[in-house]
Amino acid sequence: MSEPESFDLAVRRAAQLLRRSQHAVALTGAGLSAESGIPTYRGTGGVWTRFGEPTIDGWDLFCQDPEAWWEHALEHRVGGSEFSEALDRAVPNPGHYAMAELEHMGRLAHVITQNIDNLQNVAGSRHITEIHGNRAKARCMRCGLRFPLNTIDTSILPPVCKECGGILKNDVVMFGEPIPQDVLDTCYRQTYRADLFLVVGTSAVVFPAAEFPIMAKRRGYPLIEINPEETSLSDIADVIVRAPAGEAVPALVELLLVP
Ligand code: NAD
Ligand code: ZN
Repeated sequence: MSEPESFDLAVRRAAQLLRRSQHAVALTGAGLSAESGIPTYRGTGGVWTRFGEPTIDGWDLFCQDPEAWWEHALEHRVGGSEFSEALDRAVPNPGHYAMAELEHMGRLAHVITQNIDNLQNVAGSRHITEIHGNRAKARCMRCGLRFPLNTIDTSILPPVCKECGGILKNDVVMFGEPIPQDVLDTCYRQTYRADLFLVVGTSAVVFPAAEFPIMAKRRGYPLIEINPEETSLSDIADVIVRAPAGEAVPALVELLLVP
């Protein structure tokens, strides 16, 4: 089905599906954080919609000269772009808290997020895989350990791993950089366990993330979409809540609180 139904009916049907599910997995995207003031890339008002897509040489630049990359990153941390300033200021919105609540209520087993903003962690989600990394962390290129960015020693660049001496990089997955294998493994494991996908605030055009709900759907499991705009998944969604995440996810929690 592809025609959105009324908000109340859609949320009721979504709640019903979640009640029946034993291992619901969510895929979240930039739209979940839009109400925290972080612009999306695509969709109305998105950074790329307004300014075009950026160049895609981040990973090459890092590999060629990690020291120069870190110098540049540290210089631009203070007063950076409009986008990073929004990320610095952002706090979780009701949608993030409601996602965490779904997990605490036992209705959501895992979240795969494409967001790098750390807001779902701050809001209390615990079973979460950040497929594009986390901007608040650094990752060792050799052993894969992650460290909070504000605890790494940047007096000598590039910074190195406390455990193995490998070069550290910001955990955010750059254009052209392979998604870390541990992260990808968890995503596929969760996708194979999923008996429902809740897709919130993603245009679902970035692969492999967009593929996870499609894989579950192919195995016959339902797909719920929460997004004010149509996406590439809308045609195969069983329930579509055409509303902002900050309204739809709390409404879902409220219904599920009633036994
Ligand atoms: P996207 O920018 O491609 O799409 C955003 C989607 O969110 C659109 O479909 C839009 O209709 C929807 N949306 C807008 N407002 C919404 C709201 N209030 N509630 C629910 N949905 C809403 O984002 P994407 O699909 O996540 O993919 C973009 C890539 O950009 C991701 O890989 C991510 O790493 C990165 N990104 C991250 C952030 C962040 O961390 N907050 C922000 C922008 C982009
Ligand atoms: Zn290491």
